[in-house]
Amino acid sequence: MTTESKGIVTKSTGSWYNVTTEDGRDIRARIKGKFRMDGLQTTNPVAVGDVVIVQLTAEDAVITRIEPRKNYIIRKSVNLSHKAHIIAANIDQAFLIITLRFPETSTGFIDRFLVTAEGYHIPVHLIFNKVDLYDEKDRARLTELTKVYESIGYPCHAISAIDKEKTATILRDLMKGKVTLISGHSGTGKSTLVNSLDSTLDIRVGKISDSHHKGQHTTTFAEMHRLDFGAYIIDTPGIKGFGVIDFEKYELGRYFREMAEKLPECKFYNCTHVNEPGCAVKEALTKGEIAESRYESYLRILSDYENENHYR
Ligand code: GDP
Ligand code: ZN
Repeated sequence: MTTESKGIVTKSTGSWYNVTTEDGRDIRARIKGKFRMDGLQTTNPVAVGDVVIVQLTAEDAVITRIEPRKNYIIRKSVNLSHKAHIIAANIDQAFLIITLRFPETSTGFIDRFLVTAEGYHIPVHLIFNKVDLYDEKDRARLTELTKVYESIGYPCHAISAIDKEKTATILRDLMKGKVTLISGHSGTGKSTLVNSLDSTLDIRVGKISDSHHKGQHTTTFAEMHRLDFGAYIIDTPGIKGFGVIDFEKYELGRYFREMAEKLPECKFYNCTHVNEPGCAVKEALTKGEIAESRYESYLRILSDYENENHYR
């Protein structure tokens, strides 16, 4: 007898997939035949976060269909230049765990993350952790950064993993019913926070090794964990696993929300907002409508971009 089940892919090894079904069963499934999604050429047809239909018989479980993806994050496959590797799909939101101290998260790092998230259309919450360790100066900086990021539409939350109950309430509220990608430097408290949300969990977030080298192919697999209050987290292999987006030089400003608004007012359509006359971004910067730190990040990403090789 054959039955069908709908589920979500929580783990992929490339040869088999872990699927958690709607009724809570964990199934090890494989794929049969070819899948082509979104007109995208990929090295992996099914990714973590994919919603799939599984056909079950007494002998095995086969993924027969993938539901359309809401979004996905990819990594360009360097060796197979036209193919992309899908790291994860159907991400509702991302939490960037930030610490102003121990270790310090720079605004450059935050802004790079936000640029990528904009490229993938993933809403981001900035979670400032370890506030119990902040001195007066750190707290002033926290207030300043909160102002900068909330004014451009990124919700900010100041928490401490030490204050376990209060923090868990805040995070559970944000995560319930959603798939959340967790990112941030090592040591910012990701594992402590996630494990405090569900006592049955004991995971090391962000510690998946960056890549497995198999001959010519470099593959990266994310993992998904179900939390007992009805939420999923996605753990990606390091920040690099979040991937890079492709853009033309003059398009970078689109991924800075506060600059994006100004772009139509620049004199040149391909203005890079560095030295061009009639630049609305530079004007907004002078008026204090764009934060200095954000513009600095923009310039740094732009200059890195000029020095990088791009695979299209
Ligand atoms: P990860 O690498 O991001 O997963 O970080 P961990 O969860 O391993 O945390 C790194 C260290 O910071 C551990 O020793 C935690 O106990 C500590 N830690 C995490 N959150 C907080 C916090 O809010 N306050 C303080 N004081 N320490 C924290
Ligand atoms: Zn401009």
